Amino acid sequence: MASDLEKEKSARKLRHCRVLLLTGTYPKGLNKNEKRMLRCLKEKFMVDSSGKLVTIEGNREVVIEQKEQEEIVKKVHEGQGGAHLGRDKTVQELAAKFYWKGISNDVIQCINKCSKCVQHKKPIRARAKSSVVEKEVLDQAEKPTAPLHSIPVSGTWELVGIDIVGPLPTTENGNKYLITLCDLFSRWPEAAAVPDKSADSVAKFLMEVMMRMGFVKVITNQDGEFVNLVNAKLSKKCGVQLSIVKECHFQANRMVKRFSDTLETTLSKVVNKDRNDWDDHVNSILFAYRTSVHTTTKLSPFVVMFGREAVLPIDLMHSSSQPSAQPTEPESYEKFVETMKKERKRIHERLMENVEQAQTRRKKHKDKNLD
Ligand SMILES: [Zn+2]
Repeated sequence: MASDLEKEKSARKLRHCRVLLLTGTYPKGLNKNEKRMLRCLKEKFMVDSSGKLVTIEGNREVVIEQKEQEEIVKKVHEGQGGAHLGRDKTVQELAAKFYWKGISNDVIQCINKCSKCVQHKKPIRARAKSSVVEKEVLDQAEKPTAPLHSIPVSGTWELVGIDIVGPLPTTENGNKYLITLCDLFSRWPEAAAVPDKSADSVAKFLMEVMMRMGFVKVITNQDGEFVNLVNAKLSKKCGVQLSIVKECHFQANRMVKRFSDTLETTLSKVVNKDRNDWDDHVNSILFAYRTSVHTTTKLSPFVVMFGREAVLPIDLMHSSSQPSAQPTEPESYEKFVETMKKERKRIHERLMENVEQAQTRRKKHKDKNLD
């Protein structure tokens, strides 16, 4: 844990490093040993075209002043894209873009001081008894008999799980339920606030999502009769048969259930005191979840889905490099598509590796506990 004194020492060295890189001369008052250490330090950094100190590895912006560090942590944690996500996701997002000593500790301090995180941890609804049953089903699925090593999908948007959360407190817009959906490969989530959990609402939600993202096989553990009703509605709307199926698919059901829990927990931090404006916050939390690094895949759902990072509000405020201009020549577009395909392939391979590593770790942990 970096103390204030250590942080100030580090900031001083970084200020000196910037001077040395910019002017080619040492700041005044340094002894021989300090100059030698500064020469070593400067190998890790460079000054970009806007005069900012950045790391050579990863091109991360070096934030030297403590006040600015605190502001950035607060913006990422609370801001439009942050939506009060937890410590790990906030640290990962910061560490991918910024550099200073003690980022993790600053995030912990920020979250501990964050009134919304400290005070609003109550769920926005009282837990229904069915949640206990659902938890038991999920716990069963977690047992070592489950096929931990298999990944049933090999690409994005092949298979998604769907869940219905609620009843929640009725909002001013008349919404009472949340329909959630999660892509099994990328972990890309979708969600919508709806007034009821009717087959019509679910069919409308699925149509809206599929018209935007493409058609996909949907799995749910909802009642079979309900599933038939949704299919009938979808068939009437777009002629697609059996796009949603009832299946006890432990991975899909567990994944979407976990996302539902995360969404509900995060909503509980940002709702007003009457807890009736939760539907106003769904989109910003979705954006935060989509653009944060996922614990298992070690990649953000956004990057897996689109093959590029999303631009966040913090990037617009801090990035010294402007987004590159889009190619205008037809050949450039072809090259661009080719590059994107390669990049997506590379990302998908990385995801498979990371998921496999996470599964091996989980299996080892379980085997150890069984011994
Ligand atoms: Zn917070």
